[in-house]
Amino acid sequence: MSLISVRDLVVGFDAPAGEVRAVRSVSFDLAPGERMALVGESGCGKTTTMLAMMGLLPAGAHVSGQVLLDGVDILAGGEASMRRHRWTDVAMVFQGAMNALNPVRRVGSQIVEAVRIHGGSRRAGRDRTRELFELVGLAPELAQRFPHELSGGQRQRAVIALALACEPRVLLADEPTTALDVIVQHQIVQLLRNLSESLGLAVVLVTHDLALVPQLCDRAAVMYAGSIVENASCRDLVGSPAHPYARRLVEATPDLAGRRRLASIPGVPPRLDQPLFGCPFQPRCAEAVDRCATEAPSLLDLDPDRSCACHLVGVVV
Ligand code: SF4
Repeated sequence: MSLISVRDLVVGFDAPAGEVRAVRSVSFDLAPGERMALVGESGCGKTTTMLAMMGLLPAGAHVSGQVLLDGVDILAGGEASMRRHRWTDVAMVFQGAMNALNPVRRVGSQIVEAVRIHGGSRRAGRDRTRELFELVGLAPELAQRFPHELSGGQRQRAVIALALACEPRVLLADEPTTALDVIVQHQIVQLLRNLSESLGLAVVLVTHDLALVPQLCDRAAVMYAGSIVENASCRDLVGSPAHPYARRLVEATPDLAGRRRLASIPGVPPRLDQPLFGCPFQPRCAEAVDRCATEAPSLLDLDPDRSCACHLVGVVV
């Protein structure tokens, strides 16, 4: 059974030119210990999807759909319900470790505070800090340091420890390796994998870097213009992407052996504050046919393990 399921999630924001529909009917499921990635270019709706799952969208956002935790819709209960589950069931590692930590407080005290806010004692907070530092591979004395006294990798480990303070079952990791060098990136990805395996933690990795995905995740959903256009196992997605946009993403990602010639994706994603007609990828798609300009493709199951939204899938690809 799924631990968490997102069902037909739609998120819109008011804007001068009309509503920006940032997330369009996104659905996926995650079992305990499962790791999936949301992949796509900036502005495709990945982070907005995560913020909706945390109930942390800015005031004025229009949200519909369901976020089912153990089969119960936590979105339906409004802010009171989200507050009950935020951090204790579903936690998030935000982009940019420096922004996630209070720069004028020692790192350890920030974890103690998180435990206290959720009903624990100061003593329990200190014990939890020691436990978490060991779990994420940080020496206990680093708890006394301020964020600027830690290296980039140590800060990211501290942010992960902070997110785990209240023993969540789902961790949403938004670009957790941004601004880290390649070796530290690999260590952080390895840490997330180890935590997922040892704690049974379900992980959603949000990234624009497809190369990271197979290192951590079992499956990946590719998003474009607010929608999932392909959802597949990492092996299938990287080895034989079905959707033309997913293929372009794979071709634009350097593989570790440096065998692949890099290709860029021409054009830009569509504006989301204007109505979309047909397939949103059509203006950039080299394989588009006439119906792509007028008819939006639905996300259809190709087999039990893969779905794709393209008129040509099953015909040409
Ligand atoms: Fe390209 Fe048409 Fe498929 Fe869209 S539906 S990805 S435009 S071929």
